[in-house]
Order: sequence, then C-alpha cells, then structure tokens
Amino acid sequence: MYPWLKKQYLQWQQQLNRLSHAYLLAGVDGIGLTDFAQQMSKDILCKKTGLLACNDCSACNLFSKNNHPDFFHLTTLENKKEISIDQVRELNKKLFATSHQGGYKVALIELAEKLNISSFNALLKTLEEPPAQTIIILTSYQKGRIPATILSRCRKIDFTTPTLIDSINWLQQNLPQADQALLKKSLRVNWLAPLNAKQWIETKQFIQEKDWQDGLKSLLESRSSVAQLVAKWLKYETPEVVFDYFYLWSIARVRAAQYQRRIEFNPNWFVFQKMILQARSIWQQNANKELLLEAVCLAWQQHQLPNFNPQSNLFIILKGNFIRGTNI
Ligand SMILES: [Zn+2]
Repeated sequence: MYPWLKKQYLQWQQQLNRLSHAYLLAGVDGIGLTDFAQQMSKDILCKKTGLLACNDCSACNLFSKNNHPDFFHLTTLENKKEISIDQVRELNKKLFATSHQGGYKVALIELAEKLNISSFNALLKTLEEPPAQTIIILTSYQKGRIPATILSRCRKIDFTTPTLIDSINWLQQNLPQADQALLKKSLRVNWLAPLNAKQWIETKQFIQEKDWQDGLKSLLESRSSVAQLVAKWLKYETPEVVFDYFYLWSIARVRAAQYQRRIEFNPNWFVFQKMILQARSIWQQNANKELLLEAVCLAWQQHQLPNFNPQSNLFIILKGNFIRGTNI
C-alpha cells in the first residue's frame, strides 16, 4: 500500500467486521484509487474472512492472477466515453447469481462518473436492494458528477493528494536514478499526483515537453508555423497534455515575476491561464481539436507581443466556434 493511503487503509481495516453494501472512493487521478479498491476487494474475497488478504489462500491466488470468478471490474470499454447500461445490466445479472466460491461477490466500478443516466438508474436498483453478500466499490475523480441518490447509498472514503515532500521522498525511493529537479518537475506537470509523476518519468514524457518547448521557440523564430506545431501535438499520445504545458508555462511566468522578480509582471498571463482552462474544458466536448489547438497556439503567440491587448485575443474572439457543426 502506498504510504499516503495508509490512513485510509487503517480505517478500512477497522471496518472489515461490519462491511457496507457499497463504497465510494473519491480523490484525484494518479494517487492509487484503483489499487486501493482492488486491495479492498482482495481483502473481502480472501477465504480467511474478517482479516486482511492473506495472499496465501486459493481466493487470494485467483485474485492475484486476475482470475477470481466472483470479482467483476467495470470500466469504460476501449474507445468509449461512457459505461453503458448494457454493461451495468450484465453486472447486475452476475451480482444476482449465486457466487462461485460460496462467499462474497465484489464489483469494482472504476470512475463512476462515466456512468450515464440510464446506467446510473440500473445501478441504483441494485444499490437499493442489494443481493446478499455483495459489495460494490465505486471510484471517482469527480464525485460532484455522481447523483445524490447513488452517493447516499455508499460509505465514503475520501483521499487527498500527498504533500510535495512525501511525494518526492516516495519518487526518490522508486526512481533513485532521477535527479531532484526532474522529480519536482514531474510532480508539477502531473498536479502533484505521484503515480502519474512516476509514469511521466518512466515513459520519458519530459522529452515530449521539451519537444513542445522547442516547437514554440521555433515558432517565435519563424522557423515553423502554427499549423506545423499543431500537427505535431495531435500525434502525441494524449494531445490535451499541451493544455497542461501551457498552463504550467503561465504559472511559471507569474511566479518568476511576482515571487522571484526575474521578469516584469504581465496581467495578461492570467487572461491566458483562464483561456487555457476554458480550452481544456471545450476539448472534452465534441470539439474540432485542430482548430482549438491552433487558436490556443495563436493566442500564446499574441501574448509574446509587446503592448498586447487581451481584447484582441484570438481565442476569445473565436470562442464558441470550436464545437463541431458550427461554421467558422
Ligand atoms: Zn487469502
């Protein structure tokens, strides 16, 4: 168990003799909610009931091999944005059937906010009248998007992001070859979430950020065009990471000006920051991704001009035109 989850794990240990029908684990991405939910499931399914998973019995072995017949893991299918009603109906059927091992049945619903209205309703019926010896564990990064009727039927376990110091210590132990500056940067880029930071370093994503930086430099020096940069960003595995880069760029500018007084402060950076957040939320909708990234890039370019007037910000002028189906 990750050190920052120990407090919640202790709470869970104390509840093992009076289980609830449903749990909601709420926190942010990259701190291990799914791992925690899996550990809970393993503890429940272990043959030595009332104790934490022994890692030795047949149930624990099946679970470790991802093969326990009474454990059901529901998540969005590949290339789908939502957990469909069919998936929930299928799950309900399994939960109402007799358990294979004669003990508990456990369902893990990863990111419950991905359920749509009809799948929430299908799940609600099971939560209202849960079959015997059945436990449903939901995880969520956006608790606010889960209907109150569902929330009220779950016992909640809340998780917070670990402190910067704790995360750095953990990363240092796990990636002893990485230097401090890289560790700090990985946490900043990943909103202080240690697991994402670790993956960011392991998959060498700092090379991608460097590529993004070099691209902007070549734009300022007229060695490449906005269209060329955007075409490159769209080939990134998750192109929306570009919004994080821009956002963090603006934070670094504000910090350099206000706290370190290395550069002159420009209030337009706040306008730019707000714009990036808007762009990121538009991205989640059915947006024309190429246009959106081009507008962000153009706006960034405008911010480099001396005496830039935010009223002429291209992004603000074009806002509302990125959603597909709108003529531009
Ligand atoms: Zn066991």
